Amino acid sequence: MSDELPQGTEDRLRQDLPHSARMYDYYLGGNTNYAVDRDAAEKVIVSFPAVRTAARVNRAFVHRSARLLARDHGVRQFLDIGTGIPTAPNLHEVVQREQPAARVTYVDNDPIVLVYADSLLRSSPEGATGYVEADVTDPARLLDVVRREGCVDLAQPLGLSLNALLHFVPDDQDAYGVVDTLVAALAPGSYLTISHCTPDFAPEVWAQIVDVYTQGGTPLQVRSRSEVRDFFTGLDLLDPGVEVAHRWNPEPASGPSLISDADASLYVGVARKP
Ligand code: SAH
Repeated sequence: MSDELPQGTEDRLRQDLPHSARMYDYYLGGNTNYAVDRDAAEKVIVSFPAVRTAARVNRAFVHRSARLLARDHGVRQFLDIGTGIPTAPNLHEVVQREQPAARVTYVDNDPIVLVYADSLLRSSPEGATGYVEADVTDPARLLDVVRREGCVDLAQPLGLSLNALLHFVPDDQDAYGVVDTLVAALAPGSYLTISHCTPDFAPEVWAQIVDVYTQGGTPLQVRSRSEVRDFFTGLDLLDPGVEVAHRWNPEPASGPSLISDADASLYVGVARKP
């Protein structure tokens, strides 16, 4: 970890508690994490050795889905909530390869992401990127901050991505209402992309993982296929609908997948707002 943090950030980083963004960074092999994060992540790894695979499967979906929207659906602006610690390639790098003028606003509520946001802000010359700190559980304020930041235009169609985010928003924080508020603010022709952890294929393992996160101060609610599908109510799901991540539009010629559904334990989907 870099020890040159902007003044005042250190207190907000809560190095005494494990954080989801830093645990995810550890699963992906990054080094933006503290001992407290690695300890909690190792507990998850004991219950679910495939968690590193699941994190990579998720990241591959983040790239594949964004590339598909930029390349085949002409999406030129993206709002990515729950961005995470920068990991190459970042979303704007993927979409700007297809659409050099693409604009991306990144949002996260963890101050660690802001510390490392530099690499999120290195846009192509034709495009633009922005970063704002906001909490998805206050969607009205989040939308306000995004509007004021001005990188993306909410009046025009965009791709909203909520990847590996909504399992950190339990029902008692109104997860479905949050998504409805965000989608209601988007122009017709916008897209919603979601990836979400599920207990469907390994319920006992996931009960243990939920405990590790909850005991670390991060409530986690994993959801079934139909509960994930409910986030897309009123939208037109692209084929193949809500599917296990590695089976959602695999890249041609990527060969047979050796990943089991339990190893991935992630449902994903992309839908268009009519
Ligand atoms: N979207 C990335 C990273 C997922 S990790 C990917 O799929 O690869 C989940 C991220 O969500 C973390 O960075 C965490 O800080 C963020 N997050 C969790 N709860 C949040 C909330 N209430 N508001 C905004 N971001 C949140």
